[in-house]
Amino acid sequence: MTTASDDLIQRDRASLWHPYSSTVNSPMVYPVISASGVRLKLADEREVIDGMASWWCAIHGYNNPQLNTALEEQLNDMAHVMFGGLTHRPAVELAEQLVELTPAGLNKVFISDSGSVSVEVALKMAIQYWAAKGRPEKQRMLSLRQAYHGDTLGAMAVCDPVTGMHTLFNQVLTPHFFADAPGIAFADEWREEDIQSLQDILTEHHQDTAALILEPIVQGAGGMRFYHSEYLREARRLCDKYEVLLIADEIATGFGRSGKLFACDHAGISPDIMCVGKALTGGYMSLAATLATDELSETISAGGEGVFMHGPTFMANPLACSVALASIKLLLESGWQTKVETIEKALHKGLAPCRELANVVDVRVLGAIGVVEIDKAVDMHIVPAEFVRRGVWVRPFGKLVYIMPPYIMDKTDLGTLCQAIFEVVKELD
Ligand SMILES: *Cc1c(COP(=O)(O)O)cnc(C)c1O
Repeated sequence: MTTASDDLIQRDRASLWHPYSSTVNSPMVYPVISASGVRLKLADEREVIDGMASWWCAIHGYNNPQLNTALEEQLNDMAHVMFGGLTHRPAVELAEQLVELTPAGLNKVFISDSGSVSVEVALKMAIQYWAAKGRPEKQRMLSLRQAYHGDTLGAMAVCDPVTGMHTLFNQVLTPHFFADAPGIAFADEWREEDIQSLQDILTEHHQDTAALILEPIVQGAGGMRFYHSEYLREARRLCDKYEVLLIADEIATGFGRSGKLFACDHAGISPDIMCVGKALTGGYMSLAATLATDELSETISAGGEGVFMHGPTFMANPLACSVALASIKLLLESGWQTKVETIEKALHKGLAPCRELANVVDVRVLGAIGVVEIDKAVDMHIVPAEFVRRGVWVRPFGKLVYIMPPYIMDKTDLGTLCQAIFEVVKELD
């Protein structure tokens, strides 16, 4: 007898592609029938504690009454209207909120549909800015090794060349400059030499370089590394010195994840352009935004074309903007900082035993992010199932077993999550 769950799995196999997956030899996928709080309910009635917040997004957990209401109310007014020549309250209020919360000076907001698109928008803004200033030769980007900025071609071109598989797409990806990844960890002692590689490239290539793009403090999907805030301050200083714009990709780190509202706040710097996405809607819908300074927006607007060359069909979708507003309101009212600090402590404590395991290379925690780095890539045909068997949802990649739970997770569930990681990593040895 096949269950409804088996049936879905088979039909999924027949017609769907999953992220970074083969359609031939793909690991098991688990049908989910509902989600509430920090738990996902699987089609076979099992419940798992979600350690991933659906890839950084579901900061308030699932099925939140306030977020649901925001969507329902907006739905009664309108689901969508084009943004060319029209505007609406959810977009205006969201832009005002983002300007208020993000680092000083980012006063103009370009809303788009996903993180990768917001990165494309940022790169194009940088190029148009220099063209408008009579410096059309400044079209190259400077990025960091181990960076991750998204999966569209423009964004891929500024991802780490090795993990981003640049060789496969070498005819279509623009060659950019790559500085060494920051080497000094968040809590270690700062040494000037860490910025040398960035300094060298800027010295040599600043004439051609439009912008430095980086993920502030946390290099996410490219390696889950936490680096020193002095690096960020130095990068800001060097960008000013060499007339290169600074783009901060806060798509993963934004809205409290690293312990500050934005990771740039660890260094007290303002970038010229900032991307936000992922947790922007509390994990309800796809939405992202690119923020820019007045100087940047005014320069582009005064330049040759006088317009910024981008305009997604679903730009500033009212449903997505409404739920984003509700999510930000909830975040600010929820005492997020205390919650993230509590999670940080629980992860430090709960993951510490992993340090004793022979196959563990490093255990690191920052804000509501916990990482156990092991000595070989995990087998995705086995490991996720081991986590599900223990009642948790953890999806490692490569050598990294990592979690970024919803901020509402309590200590008991955090303990269960950490214990499951300890047991599964131990078995891998
Ligand atoms: C996820 C992510 C992106 C891409 O966002 P999508 O919404 O998946 O397109 C870009 N930059 C960073 C730092 C990310 O974590």
